[in-house]
Amino acid sequence: MNSLVFATNNNNKIKEINSLLNNRIKIISLHDINCIEEVPETGATIKENALQKARYVFEKYKYNCFADDTGLEVEALNGMPGVFSARYAGEEKDANKNIEKLLLELKNHPNRKARFVTVIALIIDGNEFLFEGIIKGNITENRFGNSGFGYDPVFMPDGYNLTFAQMSLDQKNKISHRGIATQKMIHFLNEKW
Ligand code: IMP
Repeated sequence: MNSLVFATNNNNKIKEINSLLNNRIKIISLHDINCIEEVPETGATIKENALQKARYVFEKYKYNCFADDTGLEVEALNGMPGVFSARYAGEEKDANKNIEKLLLELKNHPNRKARFVTVIALIIDGNEFLFEGIIKGNITENRFGNSGFGYDPVFMPDGYNLTFAQMSLDQKNKISHRGIATQKMIHFLNEKW
């Protein structure tokens, strides 16, 4: 079985991708390869961050790997928090505080349009490939639901009456930014690897 390092420390993401892969590819975590340091993430764009993380793992640990980076782009905030989504409310990367700040910034704002953008950078034998997934939706006025992570309780995708945090993992995976980017990568891996 082929194996790939997923350059993330987020167990939710590992769970998400494993539920999409039906065991054809073994996903290895950073912990599994003894990468305990923080992987640098200092790019100016989502794409740069994804590439930076994947290159770091490939160059230092010599594993085929992929990394993802995601941003929530809010129209009324000119695309913010975007690449700053994780540390929107501060360096501690606290999801609750991020949501609180976002709801405050959008308080009484009629335009609540937003989109999640994910870029996955995959490196196989030194060759780099990029996959993008986008989902459009709205920021709700309050939090709804307890599943998922990050901004899930306040993001309602277009065409649904539920936030991501009110959906099952399967339901979210089928339509989410990362689900779309991951499906593209899996399709590529099935064809070429
Ligand atoms: P990262 O690039 O995956 O580290 O994510 C950047 C920020 O977006 C973090 O604050 C995450 O919590 C948030 N985020 C990433 N993916 C999702 C998601 O699927 N739902 C909600 N928030 C997310």
